[in-house]
Amino acid sequence: MPDHRAMDLTNDRPVYVIGAGPGGLAVAAALRERGVRAVVLEKSESVGASWRGHYDRLHLHTTRRLSGLPGLPMPRRFGRWVSRDDVVRYLEKYADFHELELVTGVEVTRIEPAGSDWVLHASGGRLLTGRAVVVATGFNHTPRLPDWPGLDTYTGELLHASAYRDAAPYAGKDVLVIGAGNTGAEIAVDLMEGGAARVRLAIRTVPHIVRRSTAGWPAQRTGILVRRLPVRLVDKAGGLMGRISVPDLSAHGLPRPDTGLYSRVRQGAIPVQDVGLIDAIRSGRVEVVTAVESFDESKVALAGGSPIAPDTVIAATGYTRALEPLVGHLGVLDDRGRPLVHGARAPKQAPGLYFTGFTNPISGMFREMALDARKIAKALSR
Ligand SMILES: Cc1cc2nc3c(=O)[nH]c(=O)nc-3n(C[C@H](O)[C@H](O)[C@H](O)COP(=O)(O)OP(=O)(O)OC[C@H]3O[C@@H](n4cnc5c(N)ncnc54)[C@H](O)[C@@H]3O)c2cc1C
Repeated sequence: MPDHRAMDLTNDRPVYVIGAGPGGLAVAAALRERGVRAVVLEKSESVGASWRGHYDRLHLHTTRRLSGLPGLPMPRRFGRWVSRDDVVRYLEKYADFHELELVTGVEVTRIEPAGSDWVLHASGGRLLTGRAVVVATGFNHTPRLPDWPGLDTYTGELLHASAYRDAAPYAGKDVLVIGAGNTGAEIAVDLMEGGAARVRLAIRTVPHIVRRSTAGWPAQRTGILVRRLPVRLVDKAGGLMGRISVPDLSAHGLPRPDTGLYSRVRQGAIPVQDVGLIDAIRSGRVEVVTAVESFDESKVALAGGSPIAPDTVIAATGYTRALEPLVGHLGVLDDRGRPLVHGARAPKQAPGLYFTGFTNPISGMFREMALDARKIAKALSR
């Protein structure tokens, strides 16, 4: 429990934490633990908004024990692979348990320096002054849809994966899923199990597929162990492991990847954890097709193939960080719109401005955000 005696409740310039997802809640709890007043600003009406919106069958692919946030482990009864609903329950409990100061329904639109303080512009014309700001608005902030030629002429049903809940609306339908990251792979399996008439998965870059666990050993633990080793070494070991644990799916249109597993992680693509895709492809119930090139009224053109006419297209094509309106003017983002620094380090030109949750590490984001939370709290309580 937090030490309330140590808390400086007279401090009228709190640390503002933007976003009440796991990243923001973890930082606020770690700050409170150190007696630093933190106010979490959340644009939706509750904590864990991203997790509330995810599809029904989603479970953490990182283990319960390695996904707990500072000061409160996830309960054993959640099992090893925690369901979406239990993640939301945990985040609600987490905010209550740490007695976090949370203001919902407030969207921060811009952050400006003001001497050694920071002014936050927020919805309703609010101007809030804090002594520091932690941005925790999420890696998966705004659904991204590539600018495919002809998309505006497309007459079929098209949705981003962020709007997908379950397979029921697609029973008996011909569905094309675009993108074989973890989300696209899992939605393809969900559709197949949920009675879609045909499921095709369009793949531009062959993903690395790993077993979620092997003989009880979770892939996440391997990720933690190898993350500081040389990339070439991990690529080699990953290739070997892949050949041993994942069957050759070349005959089904999915050759083995031609770049190393860890090299790809470093470029931002974490491997796909198998939750049924390998079997689905092997049995032909999910068909692999080439990348989508363009749309033309009811047709979808695939690279090097004839056009197809699915009933529904689900684009599992990722998200953008959308940090530009918030902090783009401060020179703290790289050319891909990601913060130049994260965790305990604040940008040189913006002391007091921190970021958490904007990396995509092989060791698991919950775990990384928990570590960053403690580091940020330590830096801010100096
Ligand atoms: C499908 C999926 C599965 C995942 N599975 C795992 C997993 O198994 N293990 C793992 O470790 N990680 C996983 N992740 C990655 C990551 O852990 C989660 O995305 C996690 O929710 C990130 O937490 P966050 O707090 O950074 O962002 P979010 O959970 O997205 O929270 C950000 C919050 O900020 C709010 N917000 C945004 N902008 C503003 C603003 N301007 N003003 C006020 N509030 C704002 C949002 O409403 C939201 O509540 C998964 C991600 C996805 C998409």
